[in-house]
Amino acid sequence: MIKKILLTITAAFLLAAPTLHSAENKASDKNTSSKLTQISTLQALLESCYEGIITAGELKKLGTYGIGTFNDLDGEMIMYNGEIYKARATGEVVKVEDSQTIPFANVSLIGQEQIAAGTEISGSCGSFSDLKNAILKNIKNYNVPHCVIINFNSAKIRVRSVPAQKRPYPRLVEVVKNQKVFENDKINGVLIGFYFPKYFQGINATGFHLHFLSTDKNFGGHLLEISGSYNVAALLPQYEFNMLLPKEGDFAKARLYDKAHEKEINRVEK
Ligand SMILES: [Zn+2]
Repeated sequence: MIKKILLTITAAFLLAAPTLHSAENKASDKNTSSKLTQISTLQALLESCYEGIITAGELKKLGTYGIGTFNDLDGEMIMYNGEIYKARATGEVVKVEDSQTIPFANVSLIGQEQIAAGTEISGSCGSFSDLKNAILKNIKNYNVPHCVIINFNSAKIRVRSVPAQKRPYPRLVEVVKNQKVFENDKINGVLIGFYFPKYFQGINATGFHLHFLSTDKNFGGHLLEISGSYNVAALLPQYEFNMLLPKEGDFAKARLYDKAHEKEINRVEK
């Protein structure tokens, strides 16, 4: 399946001035940075490119924490501690076989030593918006993507998932009209996801995109709203960005730049 991926774009944010990330300070950054890999683009999903292009097994070699979706847009993907989980539109959460395929994902290679190093960020939020503001205050460099892992205790939460689609695939804005929303009043679990700067517009959703997985692995999905007390386990700048693009299939013919995409992302992801 990996043969479908021809083009690898690697952007390493490491050239330049001493104050920026460099080969020399890489060693000291071991606990505070990590490498990001993106499969396809979110805009390809907007344009109905739901065909899996990398297997879960292959994706696990590229990251240990992350988010995405599955072949035919079958649910929300949560990668947690090297395992991949699927939050289905039925409400159930299942562990995913290595042979399942994935059309879009963002994953980061994060070691246990980085999780153990943790952060000093904790508190309570009344809304997702409050949480975003609290995290943003702790980002020192707004112009690099960040991976964020946040533990929640007794959270009040609303998540969504989407059902698998059949060809001819409808556009994502149509699919989310039938999204399934799940709520929980008192749940423990972890939010995993990414912050992308505005200049990533065109290849991803900018701002925060987070998925939830409960501690008992029975509840999860794409985060819509949350409140409760939290502890940030990791907030890691991603100075290295690797993007894998499909060689063929729907992606090759899709219209991947459209001014309407920004508005559509607000409708489908927020
Ligand atoms: Zn999502």
